[in-house]
Amino acid sequence: MQEYKMLIDGKWVSAKSGKTRDITDPANGDLLAKVPESNSEDAKLAIEAARRAFDSGEWRKTSAQARGKLLFKVSQAIMNHFDKFVEMEVRDCGKPRREAEFDVTDAANCFEYYGGLATKIHGQTMQTPDGSVSLIVREPIGVCGQIVPWNYPLLMSCWKLAPALAAGNCLVLKPSELTPLSALELGKIFTEVGFPPGVVNIITGPGAGAGEELASNPLVDKVAFTGGTVTGKKVMENATHNIKNVTLELGGKNPILVFEDCNFESAVDWTLFAAFANQGEVCSAGSRLLVQKSIHRKFVDELVKRVPRIKLGHGLAEGVLMGPLVSAAHRDKVESYIKIGLAEGAKLLCGGKRPEGAEYAKGNFVEPTIFDHVTPNMRIAREEIFGPVLSVIPFETEEEAIALANDSEYGLAAGVFTSNLTRGHRVINQLRAGITWINNYHPTYNEMPWGGYKQSGIGRELGLFGIEAYLETKQINIWMDDNPIGWY
Ligand code: NAD
Repeated sequence: MQEYKMLIDGKWVSAKSGKTRDITDPANGDLLAKVPESNSEDAKLAIEAARRAFDSGEWRKTSAQARGKLLFKVSQAIMNHFDKFVEMEVRDCGKPRREAEFDVTDAANCFEYYGGLATKIHGQTMQTPDGSVSLIVREPIGVCGQIVPWNYPLLMSCWKLAPALAAGNCLVLKPSELTPLSALELGKIFTEVGFPPGVVNIITGPGAGAGEELASNPLVDKVAFTGGTVTGKKVMENATHNIKNVTLELGGKNPILVFEDCNFESAVDWTLFAAFANQGEVCSAGSRLLVQKSIHRKFVDELVKRVPRIKLGHGLAEGVLMGPLVSAAHRDKVESYIKIGLAEGAKLLCGGKRPEGAEYAKGNFVEPTIFDHVTPNMRIAREEIFGPVLSVIPFETEEEAIALANDSEYGLAAGVFTSNLTRGHRVINQLRAGITWINNYHPTYNEMPWGGYKQSGIGRELGLFGIEAYLETKQINIWMDDNPIGWY
């Protein structure tokens, strides 16, 4: 068991109240660490430190080359501590080792990508009608409040930190109160590689208090939030006090459209991965399977046949492919949706309960669950469950599939399976979703924009769009005539 402090103004500090929170392993309840339980008072101190750091100009005036090189050092340091980060992510949020290895590699690559982009930020020159020399320059936004969820603690932190720092901003990051450990370890890297004090501040604690302060404090210029849609609405409301720049990465109820002409074997594989990777605790999880009636029975039978291959257990144990849910409270929520599905008349094909056996007794495990004969108005077809629950809805025609796919308040991700590429494009072009795949599901690239339509969010992370989200745009007009204008 380790006792952590949080990073404010280059120093490791406790919460002003002295309160701490126990962080436990969701697979067995083991106590992993104690972390400071900050509140709005601590958040204010962190915000003020970031404000001083930004206003002093030290970081934003650091050359882009030097900023980029520091980001490369962070990337390298993450890889130097690869095993530590992998184990920490598994123990903190319950994911299987193989998935945590992907996350840590991606996190390091994210810093490398934005380290490279730091030197590619550039403006434009414009021709104006009166002959002025007009320049457009890009500048950092200022102080950023960054709030991340518990399902990809390290990766979501890096998606926010790397572009903001590449662009020259100063920031306060708040990881989820459930999974703060990798962000605090990352904080050690920032101090080791030589970031000036106050540029990166990392506070731990709940949304009420610390998170709300980041969203509402007038010293914060931008708030970047990833989490649930209901929380996102509150963040947006709080950000109105000083008209903050806001980006929101929110929930999803993402459709997978499987047509009868798909490559059957491959579509079955990807569907299971779409629904059950990271225990289904993924904003982009394929949680609604729309499958053409002609292959519905065969497809669903094959899914159910393969589910037993998904071995549950502690993410560090050999061969485990699915871990526990992040907390007992979250398991209760997922189980309540399973009850709702049964009460609504959906047909439970597999799962729907906790696995049996002593090894599961102290963890928050739920078996991979598939509901068939789901109808579009059922709550399990409409609401984000954020667990290993797949809802299957059969369809007859392409038009019907598109209408069903778009019949959601969300618009984050979607996948289409067909061996007719014309159909694939035709369908994708009509889907209202920001992240889409044809004949695969889930691959995510640091180079490609991430974000949703509708109530899945505002703005994009990653790629060139990700750095845009941390830049202001200024016009500079230079008058080229020294003579007075003689207007008055
Ligand atoms: P959550 O909304 O409960 O919490 C997210 C973060 O917000 C946490 O750090 C929390 O402490 C903080 N928070 C809570 N209330 C707050 C408030 N009033 N003001 C400011 N901050 C507050 O979400 P969660 O349960 O941690 O994560 C699951 C959700 O995140 C799912 O809905 C999922 O779809 C979404 N998510 C979206 C993406 C994406 O890229 N679109 C990625 C991952 C997760």
